[in-house]
Amino acid sequence: MGKVWFVGAGPGDPELITVKGRDLIGRAGAILYAGSLVSEATMRWAPAGCEIADSKDMTLEAINTWLLQKARVHDTVVRLQTGDPTLYGALVEMVQPLDADGIGIEVVPGVSSAMAAAGSAVESLTLPEVTQTVILTRVEGRTPMPDGESLAELGTHHCTLCLFLSITLLSKVQSELLAAGWREDAPVLVVQKASWPNQEKIVRGTLTDIRDKCRDEKIKSQAMIIVSPVLGARRWPELKKSKLYAADFSHRFRRGTKPKRKA
Ligand code: SAH
Repeated sequence: MGKVWFVGAGPGDPELITVKGRDLIGRAGAILYAGSLVSEATMRWAPAGCEIADSKDMTLEAINTWLLQKARVHDTVVRLQTGDPTLYGALVEMVQPLDADGIGIEVVPGVSSAMAAAGSAVESLTLPEVTQTVILTRVEGRTPMPDGESLAELGTHHCTLCLFLSITLLSKVQSELLAAGWREDAPVLVVQKASWPNQEKIVRGTLTDIRDKCRDEKIKSQAMIIVSPVLGARRWPELKKSKLYAADFSHRFRRGTKPKRKA
């Protein structure tokens, strides 16, 4: 009996997979990849004779059957997921049938699109004394949101919000964040196909105009929405700098200089 590895392929650029993930692809007997969001170019590391299938058109049941069958034949079976497998990836539904059959599984993390989108736009998701918190969430579409997790409620924290699966619901994002007390001119960043070579689009706007801007750019899918009080900080003249690198801040690896006394 083989083992099934749930591997994060990263956000799109095939080079953003981890070394561990690439090595697993290199010795896989079978790979099932999420073709809607994982670049086919990642398969270049697969060995000759590797069984490769795209799960784009499969139901969960078909995916589970495929993984079970291949794990009976091959030592290493890879389920290649977009971004990180632990976020909106139906991981538990795929693991349970394997558990039931006594097949070993392991998860290899990946670079999530939330991080890739922020990086592409050279934005930090946290900034001292502005926000130290990131919420990864989505707005309610066909999947209902649990109690207490509407954007109107989560938005009251005024921290960084990374919104998955919500690009077609920008009017809802707008109305719920205004209800949560965000200003109409609050900055919003949308990154489509973050890190995909030659395909990435970065759109900046405000809660008021981001929807029109995305419509003009024809962005309807595969996009990350980031709303945060830190957006644009790269160009702020005054920053509260991180204590970690401050000259007078001591920590485990460095003794800080004493602040100068006033004469
Ligand atoms: N596990 C994935 C998320 C899967 S849900 C991760 O960690 O990134 C699919 C959603 O992720 C999309 O609707 C979109 O909001 C986001 N997404 C995935 N790839 C993206 C990319 N390259 N750029 C921007 N958003 C992306």
